[in-house]
This record gives sequence, structure tokens and C-alpha cells, in this order.
Amino acid sequence: MSVLAEPAVDVTEAPPHPVVELEGVSKTYPGGVRALRGVTLRIEAGEMCAIVGPSGSGKSTMLHLIGTLDRPSEGTVRIDGFDVAALKDKQLSALRATRIGFVFQQFHLAVGQQVLDNVADGLLYSGRRGPDRRARAAEALERVGLAHRLDHLPNELSGGERQRVAVARAIVGEPAVLLADEPTGNLDSVSGAGVMALLHELHEAGTTVVVITHDQDIARSLPRQVKMHDGEVV
Ligand code: ADP
Repeated sequence: MSVLAEPAVDVTEAPPHPVVELEGVSKTYPGGVRALRGVTLRIEAGEMCAIVGPSGSGKSTMLHLIGTLDRPSEGTVRIDGFDVAALKDKQLSALRATRIGFVFQQFHLAVGQQVLDNVADGLLYSGRRGPDRRARAAEALERVGLAHRLDHLPNELSGGERQRVAVARAIVGEPAVLLADEPTGNLDSVSGAGVMALLHELHEAGTTVVVITHDQDIARSLPRQVKMHDGEVV
């Protein structure tokens, strides 16, 4: 059973809520840099949006807060209805593992592991057994168009295919939100367009997708843009 399902935090009875909710959120780093200043933002279930802005505008800080990898200095962060401040570290890890699917620019796949196992690892904290994890991983890989690559190693794949594996790993646990940090940053334009098309497909099928990018063209191709400047949403 996941840590989140302990009686102290009942995840089954949560009322309807935004998937991502930031209220008056500020983040000041040691040394005094105010990377975020009073950000308020709601992202509803089923939305697809870009968090876009130039370097230094606070995008990575937003990623860390929405991804529950860091806590705000001020304000409230709620992910899938859970107030991050109210959770202990272990519960926060469980929230992250079950509610958030991450995709990074650098793919972050385990190099010595077959594609199927890389994706199945996305379910390590789900409480599911190995055979069930692998069956679900195969389904996720089919969704991203890689059913024919299950037993390949990541270094036998193209960059675009590796990112598709990373997307499969991110969605295999059916997270509340797919959080993609510069997902095309390491890809040529054709592979990048393919990965963006895949994210659009997942969105159309109901997945909540948040893309963090400095690329205005990518941002414009999404239904909603949250524009960052100097730590504020503008
Ligand atoms: P972006 O992702 O848009 O480039 P960041 O969120 O990385 O923006 O950075 C916002 C501001 O916070 C920048 O001025 C950056 O130098 C600063 N910053 C980011 N991370 C840290 C940190 N760990 N410690 C101190 N300052 C930081």
C-alpha cells in the first residue's frame, strides 16, 4: 500500500479540485534571490499548458515546486488537492511517485536496462507486482508507438525514441499531471515535433500536460500559455 493511502491522508475521498494550484507562492533561495514572487496559478484536470519564459524567469523553480521536489518559501502549493506543506517527506515522495509523471530534456533512462524495464520502473511505488508492472509498461510503450522496441537498450534507440520511452515511463502510472521540462531540448526538429505530437495525443485522450519551455513556438502550439518574467506570471 502506498504511504499516501495511510489513514492520515485519505486519497480516495478527495473532492474535485485543480490538479495544480499555487496561491501566493514565493521562493527565495539562500543568498536572497527571489526566484518566484507571489505566483497564483490553477491548472485544471485535462488541461494542456506551457510555462514559458526566458532564462532566469523562474521556470525551473516552478518545475521544482509543482513537481514537489522543493517547497515554497511563502504561499500554498496543492497538487491533486494535497497541500504540499501538510505532507511529511515520505508522503510527499509518495505523492510525487503516484501523481506526477516527469519527462526531462535529458531523458534520464537507466542505460543498462531494457526499454520495458525502464518503463515498468515507473510503477515501482505503485504496489503492483512485477508481471503486472511489465504488462502495463508494454501497454504504455504501445501508446507511444514503441511496441516493437520492448527489449532494446536505450542506447540502441534514437533520441526521439528515447524521449518516447521517457513519456511512456511518465504515464504508465496514470499520473494526475505529466510535467515535461524542455522535452524537445535535446532533439532535432523532426523528432521534437514527433514528441510534441505525442504529448498532444495524450492530452486529447485526457492527460493533464504541463510543458516547461523557453521556446515561444512550442508555447504557442499549446492551448494555454503561462508566461513568466522575473519570477512573476505576466
Ligand atoms: P529559469 O528556469 O527560467 O531559467 P530559474 O528558476 O532557474 O529560472 O531561476 C530563477 C532565478 O533564481 C535566477 O535568478 C536564478 O539564478 C536563481 N536561482 C535558481 N536556482 C537557484 C538556487 N538553487 N540558488 C540560488 N539562486 C537560484
